[in-house]
Amino acid sequence: MIYKTTEKHRQRSREWAASHPEQVKANRKRRYAKNRESAIEYNTQYYNEHKEKVQAYKAQYYLEHREQERTRAAAWVDKHPDLAKAYQDRYQIEHRDERLAKAAKRYAEHPEEVKERVRQWQKAHPEMVRANVKRRKALKRNAIISDLTAAQWQECVAEFNYCCAYCLTPLDIVTQDHMTPLVRDGAHTLNNVIPACRSCNGKKGTKTLLDIVGREGFI
Ligand SMILES: [Zn+2]
Repeated sequence: MIYKTTEKHRQRSREWAASHPEQVKANRKRRYAKNRESAIEYNTQYYNEHKEKVQAYKAQYYLEHREQERTRAAAWVDKHPDLAKAYQDRYQIEHRDERLAKAAKRYAEHPEEVKERVRQWQKAHPEMVRANVKRRKALKRNAIISDLTAAQWQECVAEFNYCCAYCLTPLDIVTQDHMTPLVRDGAHTLNNVIPACRSCNGKKGTKTLLDIVGREGFI
């Protein structure tokens, strides 16, 4: 016998589904678990073929369910703190340039606002500020050569006319830029340290001079 789905059948199953949401959910879950591999494959393929549509749909969905999605995300982070941290770390590393460019733009447009936010953040996270200072100190101390004296540093800044070595802006706040960064085995010594403004130092990050030559916003 050929089974034909009629509108009546469909209507009935819709009604059944509407009055048994838990069961529908459980069924869906079971079906998914049983066909997990092919479901993932199907979803991936669908996504690749309809990327824009899926992204637009997701963005729209997020807009319409913002609060709910935020709560859900927060609950997920609570439940998987290690995974969340790993994702976040990876994201930060992979999008570092983007992030710094955005931060630099924000700072250029609203310097006072940004400074105030940083102050607030530092006030609220003294332990992280201390940890950062400590980490920088340890890096300097453990550098292959670590012999930059305060006097040498003063002379060096004077040699650059109290300007950022990269963008030549006169400096209110001088930061030490390690041309070969400490984290990349650079030395904390006179011929590896130059004065830089916070923006350039931040943009350069853990890159070496060679990495940044010719890059937008740099030499
Ligand atoms: Zn600069």
